[in-house]
Amino acid sequence: MNILTKRIVPFGNKIYYYALDILFPPICVSCSVPIKDQRTYLCSDCFDKITIQTAPTCPACGKRQAGKELCHRTPYTLAASCYYHEPIPQLIQYFKYKKLENIQTILSAILIVHAQKIIPHIESYIISYIPLHPKKEQARGFNQSRILAQTVANYFQIPCMQTLQRIRNTPSQTKQKGSLGRYKNIQDCFSSVDPKNIQGKNIILVDDVSTSGATLREATKILRTYHPHHIVGLVIAKVE
Ligand SMILES: [Zn+2]
Ligand SMILES: [Zn+2]
Repeated sequence: MNILTKRIVPFGNKIYYYALDILFPPICVSCSVPIKDQRTYLCSDCFDKITIQTAPTCPACGKRQAGKELCHRTPYTLAASCYYHEPIPQLIQYFKYKKLENIQTILSAILIVHAQKIIPHIESYIISYIPLHPKKEQARGFNQSRILAQTVANYFQIPCMQTLQRIRNTPSQTKQKGSLGRYKNIQDCFSSVDPKNIQGKNIILVDDVSTSGATLREATKILRTYHPHHIVGLVIAKVE
């Protein structure tokens, strides 16, 4: 905090934000056009670009499905709320590294609207999430997927619980080249936390983005060894 903001904070939030606006004029995090209030993060044009999908995705071939049945037999159903198009990547990046509450609200709402459309009997599920390695979580201060999972669980009034833990601290999946690189990087990364929370359960597994599907595939492989009933991978966006 600099001297100017330090002096004006006691006079109330209004003056504080006014001063911040003079120092750092608010801009859209996606296209950088000026906006009225930085706390909205997006201009109205970028906000209107967010398109929430109404059909599940086949994890095997990546196609949106016409009905509820998938075109391939797969160990889980992919509920990919949006495609990884602007402004979604910028929102996810800002949330992942700065934990901004208003962005959390937008991203959680996207997951909730999509889940409502494509997961029948959602009250029969528990919500879980892709864990971070404890060292990575400590460095970042939070796990973005757990925060989103908890918000979705609160909305639907269903339990949120940890089902997996990371037993290997791997480099980020986004830094891996190609499907094979991502698969190798994530292999044998997870172990289960409490098998009784998995056996016979319907599980929604929350993650931020699905690129090659390697993370969700590896996570569901571990969960499947404890015989859950059904697994849905719920993500904000699928990279095409
Ligand atoms: Zn914009
Ligand atoms: Zn398919």
